[in-house]
Amino acid sequence: MTVLVTGGAGYIGSHMVWELLDAGESVVVLDRLSTGFEWAVAPEAKLVVGDVADRDLVGRIIRDNHVNAIIHFAGSIVVPESVTDPLGYYENNTSKTRTLIETAVREGVPHFIFSSTAAVYGGAGLEPVREDARLAPESPYGLSKLMSEWMLRDAALAHDIRYTALRYFNVAGADPKGRTGQSTPGATHLIKVACETALGKRPFMQVFGDDYPTPDGTCMRDYIHVSDLAAAHRLALQRLRAGGNSLVANCGYSHGYSVLEVIDSVRRAFGHDFDVRMGERRPGDAAAVVANSELARKELGWTPQRDDLDLIVNDALAWERILTTKNSVRN
Ligand code: UDP
Repeated sequence: MTVLVTGGAGYIGSHMVWELLDAGESVVVLDRLSTGFEWAVAPEAKLVVGDVADRDLVGRIIRDNHVNAIIHFAGSIVVPESVTDPLGYYENNTSKTRTLIETAVREGVPHFIFSSTAAVYGGAGLEPVREDARLAPESPYGLSKLMSEWMLRDAALAHDIRYTALRYFNVAGADPKGRTGQSTPGATHLIKVACETALGKRPFMQVFGDDYPTPDGTCMRDYIHVSDLAAAHRLALQRLRAGGNSLVANCGYSHGYSVLEVIDSVRRAFGHDFDVRMGERRPGDAAAVVANSELARKELGWTPQRDDLDLIVNDALAWERILTTKNSVRN
């Protein structure tokens, strides 16, 4: 029995591959390598370079490897880009996911795990958000993921396939063993940006607004360690294999940190100050987005191991240093 991981050369996908291999699973990765890296795929996994919407290719992979579960990470993830290129996002995230689900159904793959997002909720308040909160995506990105959730729901009602959709909050950090991490250039995510600034890869960074209705005026997010997220997927797989029903669950720690708290944590990890400037609000940012993660804890038996901002930041900074060495060796 093999697990097919789409997008397994990307940030979260490459952690998932290690998580599965560490648990003794056999893994095949399907990735176009448009944003992922061949070197990010664990050598014990089989890598196929190709598209998730290539029916023949995916069918062959499933049959040749006896795939009994698909974990689907491949997709586009840049929210502002989805605003300028909505049709590209609906094609890449929604249409291709539809084709992949169809292939899974046709080939009789019984389990499907989908990477969804907190962006399906739209602007949340300071209260942790539950799965039954109002669904109101504010970007084509969020909607492209929500539509995929709905397709899965309907496909699972009509066909012999069960699924888990995990709605990620702010994924950060890197493999504690330093095997992979967030490697895509031009990152916009706070922890990555702060680590790059600390290491001198950027001259300065900005805090996007300090006049929000939060305790220190900066936005609050629920940062979850990528290894804990990968563990949640592994548990979801176990649960589906044990006969568990389809499930949609949040993945976060249920508490938020402000932008200033994150930057302080990076200062502590780095040991020195770096240039942080107060800037304007970034359009589209909600004041706070925090998960209620009771469902994942209860249904998946998920107990996060790295629920600590300093741990997340330490691992992110360590990976940023490894990446510097990798890139200088390559140049
Ligand atoms: N942020 C910031 N400076 C940066 C990058 C992000 O102040 O250089 C803030 C951003 O406004 C948001 C929070 O950090 O409030 C998290 O942003 P990120 O892009 O990491 O994730 P998002 O929540 O937007 O998915």
